[in-house]
Amino acid sequence: MSRSHSDIPVTPSNVACIDLVNSRFTDYLGSGDNTDRIASSQWQEWFLQRYALKPQTRGPIPLDELVALRRDLRRILDKWSAHGRLSPRDVSLLDARVQATAVRHRVRGRGTGLKLVQEPLRRDWEWVIAEVSASAVELMGTGDPRRLKSCGNPACSWVFYDTSVNHSRRYCAPTPCGSLMRVRRFRSR
Ligand SMILES: [Zn+2]
Repeated sequence: MSRSHSDIPVTPSNVACIDLVNSRFTDYLGSGDNTDRIASSQWQEWFLQRYALKPQTRGPIPLDELVALRRDLRRILDKWSAHGRLSPRDVSLLDARVQATAVRHRVRGRGTGLKLVQEPLRRDWEWVIAEVSASAVELMGTGDPRRLKSCGNPACSWVFYDTSVNHSRRYCAPTPCGSLMRVRRFRSR
């Protein structure tokens, strides 16, 4: 990605765990440079807002835990997309994060429109981490591993979930990665 003034991704996902994983990415031109947005307050604001995960507790953001979560999620999601299955250790790692927050049931609506909803007892960072982990569990529980892909530009680490009808999406975005690889294919002819 070019150095823009914004830390907000141009091609975000709709899944919290994927956007967390993509907060660190390699230079699409293959320079070996990495960009890491996880410590950027602009990125944090955007991410928490996007997934309605703003903690209501004060205190510093647990960056080390978020970085560890991101590392585990990247490895687990890569494994799932390659093999469609996880080890018992991966399942325990996810379970430990998801169970670290307490939730309760509430009743919403009235008459015939009654609905049971879950709400957290505390909206703290453990809740944020649990929700991001839960988004990965939901993705792997209901999604198709073949649709979770890394960008087809080998230099680009961007992860996306391909929602195209025939699984045909190859790049994180048409530009720069899609057009870059088209130019390379053309030149190698
Ligand atoms: Zn890419």
